[in-house]
Amino acid sequence: MPVVRVALDVPVDRAFDYRTDAATEADIGRLAVVPFGRGRKVGVVVGVAAQSELPDARLRDCLRIARDLPALPQDVLALAAFCADYYRATPGEVLAAALPTALRRPEALTPRPVRGWALVDSAAVPGPEGFPKQATTRRALIIALRAGPMHPDAVLAFGTTARRALADFEASGWVQRIDLPPTPASDASIDAPSGADPASDRTSGVGPALRPAQRAAVETIAATFGRFSPHLLQGVTGSGKTEVYLHLADRAMHGVDGAQTLLLVPEIHLTPQLETALAARFGVDAVVALHSGLADGERLARWQRAQRGAARVIVGTRLAVFTPLPHLALIVVDEEHDASYKQQEGVRYHARDLAVWRARARGVPIVLGSATPSIESWRHAQAGRYAHARLPERANGVAPPPIRLIDVRTRITRDGLSDALVDAIAARVASGEQSLVFVNRRGYAPAVVCHACGWTAPCPRCSARLTLHLRRGRLLCHWCGHDEPVTEACPSCGNLDLRPRGEGTQRVEQALAERLPQARITRVDRDAMRRRGAFAQVRAGVAAREIDVLVGTQMLAKGHDFPRLTLVGVVGADQGLFSVDFRAEERLYALVTQVAGRAGRADRAGEVLIQTAFPEHPLYAALVEQNFDAFAAGQWAARARYGFPPAVHQVLLRADGPDEREVHAALDAAARAARATGVDGVAVHDPVAAPLARVADRWRAQLLLQSTSRSALRRLLDAWTLPVDTRRVRVVLDVDPTEP
Ligand code: ADP
Ligand code: ZN
Ligand code: ZN
Repeated sequence: MPVVRVALDVPVDRAFDYRTDAATEADIGRLAVVPFGRGRKVGVVVGVAAQSELPDARLRDCLRIARDLPALPQDVLALAAFCADYYRATPGEVLAAALPTALRRPEALTPRPVRGWALVDSAAVPGPEGFPKQATTRRALIIALRAGPMHPDAVLAFGTTARRALADFEASGWVQRIDLPPTPASDASIDAPSGADPASDRTSGVGPALRPAQRAAVETIAATFGRFSPHLLQGVTGSGKTEVYLHLADRAMHGVDGAQTLLLVPEIHLTPQLETALAARFGVDAVVALHSGLADGERLARWQRAQRGAARVIVGTRLAVFTPLPHLALIVVDEEHDASYKQQEGVRYHARDLAVWRARARGVPIVLGSATPSIESWRHAQAGRYAHARLPERANGVAPPPIRLIDVRTRITRDGLSDALVDAIAARVASGEQSLVFVNRRGYAPAVVCHACGWTAPCPRCSARLTLHLRRGRLLCHWCGHDEPVTEACPSCGNLDLRPRGEGTQRVEQALAERLPQARITRVDRDAMRRRGAFAQVRAGVAAREIDVLVGTQMLAKGHDFPRLTLVGVVGADQGLFSVDFRAEERLYALVTQVAGRAGRADRAGEVLIQTAFPEHPLYAALVEQNFDAFAAGQWAARARYGFPPAVHQVLLRADGPDEREVHAALDAAARAARATGVDGVAVHDPVAAPLARVADRWRAQLLLQSTSRSALRRLLDAWTLPVDTRRVRVVLDVDPTEP
């Protein structure tokens, strides 16, 4: 009897055989529902065979192969297989992570009728002309409903108000809910009818005329359509990288009919804005956004539009790298240096690196865009492995704001703020301009210190200090969430002189409010932005000029254009200079550049002021000169000299558990096993405690393997028997780790 080989989301590195009536090669890539243990699982068919090597008695029946859904294409299966092999996971685990949640539940794959909408009696229902012109959604819905019943997945294409409109129609007795056949929505029922929305006509809108550097980049990259060619697009903030991406997507679309562009972006909260811009340019039909903030059904519907080739531009976060794209012609990774491209749990893949692999496998160009590229990509470009396109000027022609340092060794600061910075903000407030003060920490102060004995409030569950959150009167651990009331007296010596040390956003906000009572100040950090929609409200407030000063963390760094924002202050950046993480400087440089990029986006000149006690530090020197290449060259030289990535390749075995000794013993055994493989050219370091040795009562340690040869490292990984994951010690292999 034929069998299907099914990859399942389990940490077992082989596919599982299941008996089936008939199976063909065409089933490869299809989803299958199979019994597993006492339950059922959804897996992906990765092979078919005439018979299994397993004895018949051990074989179970495949319950269903989802032939009503399109199969995953060969290149996605290959990408998943590569990802599994490279990051030491199983193909089933990768595929499970790559599939929309709605496809991973066995129940969801069992056909059942779906509830749609249909007109009760079209004669009794007003036509589109019966609605005011502005009621575009209602008009479009009526047109579509007259053509036939509507699938629930189709509704979202009519915009966010469509559901309410349908409910109103139902209340008016115009439409009723009906059962639709259990087939997946077809193209016709999912995609909004052409012309239903004013923005949906297929002809591309036009953007601004490209500046010479943008044009040159577009031409260079477009010349490589149809083959694998990696490009680093290094453009200062505000240089119009997005415009380059849009032009390229447009070219791809018009060069080859139906060509698709995959645009990866780091942040969810950036996608709505970008999505709007893309929809305005290409029409709503042509664009889908994929991110983890979507409801399951919506995500599936969008994913399927990409899979069918109906969507031409697919914009998404990390996970979107696995989207099936039959007509893929171009991949763009925006802000390619961003840390969020690396998945930090489960399969620890790097979406940028997988995107490059996918571009190579598909024979299409890939653009990695950034103002501050990762040292990895910058080095590839320097070495000639990537083409290097540059946008050295801002698109609006205005010079970037000068960056100046405020030396806090020679000036008095109060609550972390120098007079020079406060005066500069006051001047902006007086002239009706806006300021942004970037603080690297949330809370009031990163530590509470006893001035008699030096005690600082520790987290009882972590090897970390507690952060003072004065508003709530609590001490909070930013690692495990532990919180406790602020103590009056030092628990160690009884002294009452406990003082906050260091500055968080709350302290800076409060100090500014005291010193600039006339200013309207708003804080933007995770604490202040907990409420849904809070961030959008802040943006609206800034746009309406109801806010003079924003105080916040890196939430403020990205992607917002505020034309009247002319001053950016940076407080507390120095703590990024002396970190145990060799990437801390690279991150700090990128972060400050991004924050600084918020100033003077429109025609007004801006200014950036950085408070520092280390004005001679090379990082600040490069920032002041706005010379990323000098900074990157220095980083690369140091890493090559001292043996850090990308000069070497690393694999980190991370372990954690409730017992410190057991955790270290597991890693000691792993280190011995690694050495015993006898593979040359790999340094197996001694296991050490993690930089944060304990989090939430679990001890953490790590074992670093390092080599200049990727293949040596991989040979060792192949030969290495890893310690098993037990309830006492959890072990995770992190290939190309990005966190210490
Ligand atoms: P980046 O992503 O490189 O920081 P953006 O793509 O956000 O820059 O572009 C910055 C601003 O410049 C945007 O408001 C964009 O609309 C505008 N812009 C881009 N290209 C041009 C151009 N050729 N002419 C005029 N404005 C442009
Ligand atoms: Zn004390
Ligand atoms: Zn803690």
